[in-house]
Amino acid sequence: MPAAVYDGGGVITVRDVDVPTVGADDVLVEVSHCGICGTDLHLVLGDHARPGSVLGHEWAGSVAALGAGVAGWELGTPVVATPEPGCGVCRACMRGRPSVCLRRDPPDYLSFRGAFSRFVTVPARRLARLPAGLSTRVAALTEPTAIALHTVTLAKLEPTDRILVTGAGPVGLLTTAVLASRGFHDVTVVEPSPLRRARALAVGAATAIDPGELPVPEIGLPVAEPFTVVFECSGHAAAAEAALDQLDYAGTFVFVGTGHDPTRVNHNRFIVLELTAIGAFNYDADGFTSALGLLASGALPTDLLIEPTDITLDALASTITALARTEIAGKVLVRPEVSA
Ligand SMILES: [Zn+2]
Ligand SMILES: [Zn+2]
Repeated sequence: MPAAVYDGGGVITVRDVDVPTVGADDVLVEVSHCGICGTDLHLVLGDHARPGSVLGHEWAGSVAALGAGVAGWELGTPVVATPEPGCGVCRACMRGRPSVCLRRDPPDYLSFRGAFSRFVTVPARRLARLPAGLSTRVAALTEPTAIALHTVTLAKLEPTDRILVTGAGPVGLLTTAVLASRGFHDVTVVEPSPLRRARALAVGAATAIDPGELPVPEIGLPVAEPFTVVFECSGHAAAAEAALDQLDYAGTFVFVGTGHDPTRVNHNRFIVLELTAIGAFNYDADGFTSALGLLASGALPTDLLIEPTDITLDALASTITALARTEIAGKVLVRPEVSA
């Protein structure tokens, strides 16, 4: 089967690899579409992925073969894979945070067998059926939508919140759209790319500004029109630091976007304004069910969140570069084929 294999040194090569063997409790899934995530960009452009690995974790597909011990699934059923549930008894699980269950196997970000390939295998217990009417193409947004829902959950928003979203790439756009779907419309997006600013307005932001328009506060005081909550979706330290300066007293800062350079946090400002910082990593306990329901409801502008033209495996490397240059606003979906 064709797969986009990471060869090291930032190089991705499309080649034929063996179809993965299906264990007794596994299901073989034929991938329909797999989204390109910021994590994939970091793993490739930062040369963090292990050579020989196949990336891609935002996918949907259909059941193609069943392990010997699997019952209850039919070939052709459209599915996504859900995360392993938490143990239910550790400190994190008891606090409703199964994403960071203390008894989870350590995640392997570097060498996992992902879905930039025609087939993947998944333990049958992790499969979820798509709701009626939801295409596998749109369902490829399930995982990032579950992340956006989780960030919004963790922020514990109030109806009166003034929200700032930094970065209008795929994560910031999806966060903005999820906020709008939940009734939060006082959302300002800060983003240097005019293309991405326009898309942010189209998916639900009330205002979109250039980072240069953000004011610098006086020491120990909020800016003139502060925000109560920031969702930092860019992963850029400078953006995060400028956004921290925009928070009001008792404001909440949510780190969503990962990035290479650590953010410098002005602890004096945190103390004097009594700010809260939150890291949002994965999903609510019911995150995939909620994400599938939200996507199937039609409440998200998926035609604006997903780029209109899907790519094939051979265009993955060049598209990763274009995404890193912010030449593309929305989520790019990969069809696991090779162009003719
Ligand atoms: Zn992702
Ligand atoms: Zn646990």
